[in-house]
Amino acid sequence: SELINRIAAGEVVERPASALKELIENSLDAGAKAVAIRLSGGGLELVEVTDDGSGMSPAEMKLALERHATSKLPDDAIEDVSSFGFRGEALPSIASVARLTLESRERGADGWRVAIDHGQLAEEGPAALPPGTRVRVEGLFDKVPARRKFLRSPRSEYAACLDAVKRLAMARPDVAFSLDHDGRCSLNVQPSDGPTRVAALLSHELDRHGIGIDCIRDGLHLTGVVSLPTFNRGMADQQFLFVNSRPVKDRLLVGALRAAYRDLLARDRHPVAALFVEVPAGEVDINVHPAKTEVRFRDPAAVRGLIVGGLRAALDEAGH
Ligand code: ADP
Ligand code: MG
Repeated sequence: SELINRIAAGEVVERPASALKELIENSLDAGAKAVAIRLSGGGLELVEVTDDGSGMSPAEMKLALERHATSKLPDDAIEDVSSFGFRGEALPSIASVARLTLESRERGADGWRVAIDHGQLAEEGPAALPPGTRVRVEGLFDKVPARRKFLRSPRSEYAACLDAVKRLAMARPDVAFSLDHDGRCSLNVQPSDGPTRVAALLSHELDRHGIGIDCIRDGLHLTGVVSLPTFNRGMADQQFLFVNSRPVKDRLLVGALRAAYRDLLARDRHPVAALFVEVPAGEVDINVHPAKTEVRFRDPAAVRGLIVGGLRAALDEAGH
């Protein structure tokens, strides 16, 4: 089962940013109103997430860490491992390829700590912490050379972590987020409304040139903010796209965004955009694979029309 956990770890966690995303999503699932993140060495040395959510009892902590993928897999199906979602396996998977310390305290109860070092119980006992949960991941893939060789420099691993935090912080403006990297604060946002949150996180990118978007078409709602095409290296890294408050990376949405800008797009110039699409639940299937987020719309043409139409109208109105 240790082998299977390690295979699962490769699926769920390919780099510090993917571990961080899983941990933040757990905090949000636990009803956290504040999420504090600490990283060292781009997350390769340390990823730590502290929340003020529901917390777990010691028994729930053990369960969360001991769940194994084994029960889901026939003995000889290791090649088929990618067909399994590995929901419910994030913590044991991470704990199999790092040292993971889980501290948690429910309201009105005492705190407890369990540390797992590469799949083995390393420490267990009382812990002093405020109500909520803290997960510390140290030395991710240190002892897994096959995985370690795919990791990039601390600088690019940090960039990926920051990107993951920004996307989740835009999706949940009602939650406070702070991010500290190597002892320096790189992000700190208080609960707010959506536009305030986006403005706070993209103040540098948007400067004062943001164009607000708010339109409804065919029962679909588009809000957010875009810029004129500006110089920047990558394209995807300045485009923050959400469907029903979930961060997504989706071809249809990116294509529609491009189409909306038609003649305005020149080589190496792309818009900065934070776009929130709200569609009735039955109109969309958000299939969350651990590594990527795919969206299937029942009526893709309507979604494309919403984005192209909404953005063109806003750009026209802004004089472009
Ligand atoms: P999943 O989120 O898919 O259930 P995980 O391995 O990520 O699987 O987490 C396992 C379980 O541990 C969760 O279902 C939840 O009960 C508990 N858990 C994990 N993180 C937290 C947290 N930050 N606060 C409270 N409970 C948590
Ligand atoms: Mg989870």
